[in-house]
This record gives sequence, structure tokens and C-alpha cells, in this order.
Amino acid sequence: MLPAALWVERDSCGPVPVARIGSASATLVNGVFGDPLLRLELIHRRRSLLFDLGDPGRMSARVAHQVSDLFFSHTHADHIGGFLWFLRSRIGDFPPCRLYGPRGLAGQIAGMVGGILWDRVGERAPRFEIREWHGDHIQCFRVVAGEGAAQRLDDLPLTEGLLWRESGFLVRAAELDHEGTAVLAFAWESALQLKVRRERLDELGLKHGRWLQVLKEAVIDGRLGDIIATPDGKEHRVADLRDSLLLVDPGHKLVYATDFADTAENRKRVVLLAQGAHSLFCEAPFMLQHSDQARRTGHLTTRACAEIANAAGVKHLLPFHFSRRYIKHAADVYREIHALSPQTVLPGFMAGESA
Ligand SMILES: [Zn+2]
Repeated sequence: MLPAALWVERDSCGPVPVARIGSASATLVNGVFGDPLLRLELIHRRRSLLFDLGDPGRMSARVAHQVSDLFFSHTHADHIGGFLWFLRSRIGDFPPCRLYGPRGLAGQIAGMVGGILWDRVGERAPRFEIREWHGDHIQCFRVVAGEGAAQRLDDLPLTEGLLWRESGFLVRAAELDHEGTAVLAFAWESALQLKVRRERLDELGLKHGRWLQVLKEAVIDGRLGDIIATPDGKEHRVADLRDSLLLVDPGHKLVYATDFADTAENRKRVVLLAQGAHSLFCEAPFMLQHSDQARRTGHLTTRACAEIANAAGVKHLLPFHFSRRYIKHAADVYREIHALSPQTVLPGFMAGESA
């Protein structure tokens, strides 16, 4: 029923992973060797979420206009370097963009915004609402170009890592350690989708009405034992009506995790966050022959990446953030990961190796 994760390739930059998940599409814009930047497009909503913002590559200003939320794992240059491009693209009549990241983000954003002369923009100034992760709460700030330092807003509670929730999806995070630097990994979870099977309604001679909304809400809330009356006056259990009348799309999880050391605690947190995910985008910078360097720099090896995906039971593993030393040998990196985790999605040029 689900469209599988797909691959497209880009000649000069190597493989560019793309995952289609229901009505969302996630693209690793700079491929597996370039700066981290995952664009999650909500296809029918003209809206995108970004996870990290390295080199913006070929992204058009139109994409920047449609970004509602931007999630930074941390603010090393390869993860935030594209922010000046983004800032410039947001001059105009746009709602504030929400930015999320580890503590210190607000000051860093205010610093980048403050490096520019904003005397001509007036009402068209870019605006940001910044939400910093502080373990047990979220600190909120507002930054408006031309208005100076970040302005502190009221804190928000932080429970179960929940950063954002709206009717169609939510985003959670987990804090990881990257050789002393705090890093966030993110999970985007789309909501359960329910569709009424019209042909079943017709067969049973039932009319559309408010009762179907009541039924859907009961299913979403998990009240399967509740009793609901259909328009013909009969009473049914919610679970029975669900089975006979509704098509249930269970919702999907996509996880983005990069720049963290291979420690027991990090593994535990990522596995928990990614449990049962449809797609896991996970860093795999170093092959096994370079494990020393992985350890020194607080990054994963191919093996750690594969083992995390296996432990989390993900459907598709999309490894990325490969060291550029492998740029001519991408297939070797993939082979090493795939040998340990058959869920690894291989690029098109390796077709035939997935058996
Ligand atoms: Zn990085």
C-alpha cells in the first residue's frame, strides 16, 4: 500500500536519496556527500520543513518561501551555512518561520541576522520564532531583522521530546552527544489518516453525516469499545464500524539523525526515537577501515549506522553524510552498510546488488 523509498541520482554530487512517505516527500538535497540538508515537502500543501541547512545547493527561493519550520541538529558550519541564503529569501510578506535547535541557537541566529544592514526592508523584514531545547523545557525567542538582539518569550514545557504538533503531524527530538557538542535528532510523525469507504456505506444503506466524524474521532482517540448509533438507529462498537467502513492509513515516521558519537547512550536514544520508522536518514561518515577517525571525531561508522537501524526495526535505511574521501567509491560504503542491514536503500547504479 505504501509507496517505497526511491532513489534519484545526481551525476556530479553522487547519490541523492529520496523517500516518498504517503503524501510527503523527503529529499537529501545535497546528496550523501554534500552538506546535510533534508527537505520534507508536504506535497499537497505547498509547504516544506527543513532539517539542517548546509549549502542550499540548487534550492530555489520558492522553496524558502514555503518553509514553515526549520530544525537544526546543531550549528556547525556545514549544518547552518545556508542560513544567509534563507534569510535573504525571506525578505517579503511571509509569516514568521519557526527555528528549532540546541541551546544557543537564538544568539547565533540573532548574530547572523545582525551582520546585515536592514534599513530598507521595513515591514518586509524576515521574522523568526526560535525554540531552543533545554532538556526539561523549551526556551522561546523572537528575532526580527533590523530589531537587534533576540527577544525572550515565555518558555514552553517539553514532554517526551515533543517540539511541535498540529493536526496532520508532530515532530519529536532526542538530544545526543557529538564529542561534547549537544545535537538533536528529529522524528517527523504523520497522523493516522482515515477514509470512509463509500461503497460500504451504500451497501449498508447508510447516509453520510456527523456520525462519521464522531466515528473517526473515536478511532483516532483509541476509544474502540465505545458504542455509536448509525442513522438506521442500530448501535455498533467503534472497532466494528472501523473494520467495515474505514480505510486506515496508520501514519508514518521519518527520522533524521546525524553527527553523534557511537556511545551506548546515543544508540539507546536514537533507537527509541526511530522505533518502527518508515524511513531513517542516519549518518554513516566512516567505513570500518577508518573507525579510529570515527571515534576521534564523534561520528558513526557504517556498522554503527546499520546496527542502529536494525535495532530500531526501521523499514528503510537511508545512510548519508559520507566522508568525501569515498566520493569515488560510494558503492563500497553502501555495500558495507547493506551487508549488515538489508533495509538499506541502494542507489540505482547498484541495481541487482540488493538480492
Ligand atoms: Zn556534520
